[in-house]
Amino acid sequence: MNSLPKIDLHCHLDGSLSSEFISECLGRNVNNDELTAPYNCQSLAEYLTKFDLPVSCLQTSENITAAVTDLIKQAKEDNVSYIEIRFAPTLSLNEELNYRKIYEAAIKGCKEGQKLYGVYSNIIACAMRNHSEEQNLNMLKSGLDYIGNGLCAMDLAGNEAGYPNNLFTYLFNAMNKYNIPYTIHSGECGSADNIRIAVEAGAKRIGHGIALSKDSSLMKKCKNKRIGFELCPTSNYQTKAVKEGEAYPLNEFLEYGLLATLNTDNRTVSGTTMTKEYEFIIDKFNIAKETLMQLYANSIEISFANDDIKNELYKLYEK
Ligand SMILES: [Zn+2]
Repeated sequence: MNSLPKIDLHCHLDGSLSSEFISECLGRNVNNDELTAPYNCQSLAEYLTKFDLPVSCLQTSENITAAVTDLIKQAKEDNVSYIEIRFAPTLSLNEELNYRKIYEAAIKGCKEGQKLYGVYSNIIACAMRNHSEEQNLNMLKSGLDYIGNGLCAMDLAGNEAGYPNNLFTYLFNAMNKYNIPYTIHSGECGSADNIRIAVEAGAKRIGHGIALSKDSSLMKKCKNKRIGFELCPTSNYQTKAVKEGEAYPLNEFLEYGLLATLNTDNRTVSGTTMTKEYEFIIDKFNIAKETLMQLYANSIEISFANDDIKNELYKLYEK
């Protein structure tokens, strides 16, 4: 599995820092219990508590650059050829760090990662559901200069059940106004309505989208609009987006012709890699090798990468 080419489009920087990086940053040895959520976590809200420690390691330019490079090194070991790395710039704001410095530090990490490990990457900036309109719009406007230059898209992350998508019309309007491509975490907490709102607003992709199978007319709409779906199986079972024994919608989405993809979400918090996700779906859903290549091709199609990178990724597909 490790040798297959892979693409990871849904990977959070804070949830994917290696324990070595975090230990070095904090000056003490951290153990797995502090960083990784249990497989039988009770909810998305509980899962999200594992992010405090890694976020405390993203408070200087040097650390942000090194964190991105640390993640790209892990991607290389996992035979990932392209990764979209997302994080919430507002969580790194402090007296020393403004938005421009934060964006530049992250993009620098992508460039260094490519030089060192030959992995292509881009940054996705996440607005946060629990942040104010003013905070989210400041984050967005400060990123405009970097769109297409290392920053490929924006996202909305955080507690979906507590802050549903109907509260974020202001954000969707701003992303449309500035022509920012976006993916929105939706349908991770059972709400197909959140998916509908994001798709109707103009989201090109949906993070997770598990609840889509509840709504056949919305499925049709997503197929026609060629909406991408970023599935993250291990994380989805952990947060109870899918309960043990319930059908996971990967096969359903693929058979229906939706652009479903496979991703890690949080390598450290979920204790996973792309290789493990491949193994997980083969074990659990009886996935054939051709389907893995279909997932890879879907990832290329829905990625926010430029055409040069997409062409390179297609070459690996043809091998
Ligand atoms: Zn996510």
